[in-house]
Amino acid sequence: MSVQVVAAKMAEVELKDVPTGKDLPAGSPMTPTSEGKTLARNDPHEAGSSAAASPTAEPSAKAGEGSLGLLTPNPAKMPQASAMKRSDPQQNGGEAFVNRDGTVAEAPRMKKIQFADQKQEFNKRPSKIGRRSLSRSISQSSTDSYSSAASYTDSSDDETSPRDKQQKNSKGNGDFCIKNIKQADFGRREIEIAEQEMPALMALRKRAQGEKPLAGAKVVGCTHITAQTAVLMETLSALGAQCRWAACNIYSTQNEVAAALAEGGFSVFAWKGESEDDFWWCIDRCVNVEGWQPNMILDDGGDLTHWIYKKYPNMFKKIKGIVEESVTGVHRLYQLSKAGKLCVPAMNVNDSVTKQKFDNLYCCRESILDGLKRTTDVMFGGKQVVVCGYGEVGKGCCAALKAMGSIVYVTEIDPICALQACMDGFRLVKLNEVIRQVDIVITCTGNKNVVVREYLDRMKNGCIVCNMGHSNTEIDVASLRTPELTWERVRSQVDHVIWPDGKRIVLLAEGRLLNLSCSTVPTFVLSITATTQALALIELYNAPEGRYKQDVYLLPKKMDEYVASLHLPTFDAHLTELTDEQAKYLGLNKNGPFKPNYYRY
Ligand code: NAD
Repeated sequence: MSVQVVAAKMAEVELKDVPTGKDLPAGSPMTPTSEGKTLARNDPHEAGSSAAASPTAEPSAKAGEGSLGLLTPNPAKMPQASAMKRSDPQQNGGEAFVNRDGTVAEAPRMKKIQFADQKQEFNKRPSKIGRRSLSRSISQSSTDSYSSAASYTDSSDDETSPRDKQQKNSKGNGDFCIKNIKQADFGRREIEIAEQEMPALMALRKRAQGEKPLAGAKVVGCTHITAQTAVLMETLSALGAQCRWAACNIYSTQNEVAAALAEGGFSVFAWKGESEDDFWWCIDRCVNVEGWQPNMILDDGGDLTHWIYKKYPNMFKKIKGIVEESVTGVHRLYQLSKAGKLCVPAMNVNDSVTKQKFDNLYCCRESILDGLKRTTDVMFGGKQVVVCGYGEVGKGCCAALKAMGSIVYVTEIDPICALQACMDGFRLVKLNEVIRQVDIVITCTGNKNVVVREYLDRMKNGCIVCNMGHSNTEIDVASLRTPELTWERVRSQVDHVIWPDGKRIVLLAEGRLLNLSCSTVPTFVLSITATTQALALIELYNAPEGRYKQDVYLLPKKMDEYVASLHLPTFDAHLTELTDEQAKYLGLNKNGPFKPNYYRY
């Protein structure tokens, strides 16, 4: 995928406990065009010395107008904030921007963006059965990718839909819709446990005593509603924001956590096992409320953004920015941007180093074994495993399995990742070469139809098949729903699919994301992502008009470094400081940023 790096400018941040960038060199600006468009940087190596190499642009706003609140801006010195714009091979036109007033700066020449449509009429409330039997019509990645196993309270015997219940918390507030408010105490304990592993958010809260960088912010969120998200929401609230929240996935809500949030006064609309109609109803309840209009969006997957675009486009007049976490959601934002329909700035958190290099790699390295073990009790030593895709997720899975003594094969389409796999000691193969012999097949490509029926037919008896990618598109599960095959649900999230000759394969989570469906994920890693999200919100909310255009941006490198630095004390890690001489020699500011934007880590 070709990547164009474009840039914008933001106020310098003086991070109170971390180095500041007072002496930052000027950088090598990339000049925006008069229409506010940006020039592509095709060869990052042209950027010059490392200190000056981060692509930058002259600001269209007055320098230093914004404030990060906690992160005090220094108008005199401006570090580089960067934006990334991907050129999408499927799109074939130019760029245009829809202004806040709805006028189009340049006519779009792109194909229309293709959000999956909701076919049902939203306002018609179907019957309970009807709600459950609605045909799939929304983004698969949002509703199929994640079915958390992390909810410890099972209220499945309570068949009444939360929508049919009168709900109030102990203070008489009823502006929420969850499974069972009585689970609030239990949920509170879960949140407190998560807090212990989310040091950076807790540090932000402490620093916010007195300062409220999100005062006046009305954040509408659509993410997995877990204990970790609750810590994020309560942090945003401590920083001054009002929050209304829905789940970005119909399975992932921890009901007890939703209860604790509702008891704490948050307007949460989510429960585990929503129907698709419920899913959109919950999102709508977050935004369609009298006397309250969001001015910030925090999205994971793009469904909330999509809903507002579709149903309440005028809301964007008040919205200052979108923060998006997932690959899918970011892709949708780039599509919107290319189509000239993105009418507010957006932060791509997914491609922040502190997300991609931690969440994708370390989270999967730790949780792949957990997901497999909990579902199958498999022993890894000596097992033959094929991992499809050697990106961040694939690398994490391979490392964990290798450490357990598995014999690991890798498939790749990209020669660079393929070479990395070889150099890391994995056999690079085509799937058809090993499909008969392997004990476990794991997909991590983010692609579709990587494991098709032909391969499933050829797998040996007992082969375990699972997916670690975001969507349930990687394994062609639909091809297994044919009359000659028998499905047997042997455990929660574990199906045996049985061939007429008795061969069975073990399909996990019906091809959905294994770790998030069948295990928990490490809170500490989520802390890193959540802190990046919080900083992105603070930055977008406080940025002066014009600093960010209607485009998709990356958080500045310095903030990535700040997020990392907030997590170092957990390890009693001692960071080496550059001497003046060394800083001069490397052409760096002693306090960062330490790497150019194109550095790959
Ligand atoms: P990535 O782009 O770094 O890696 C994907 C790799 O798959 C690439 O190297 C690509 O060349 C390769 N690939 C694509 N099609 C292939 C094919 N047909 N056969 C073999 N290889 C192929 O992405 P990533 O960060 O590793 O993420 C992969 C997926 O995992 C994404 O869908 C992402 O959203 C998801 N993800 C999951 C988790 C989790 O907790 N399970 C965490 C982060 C990301």
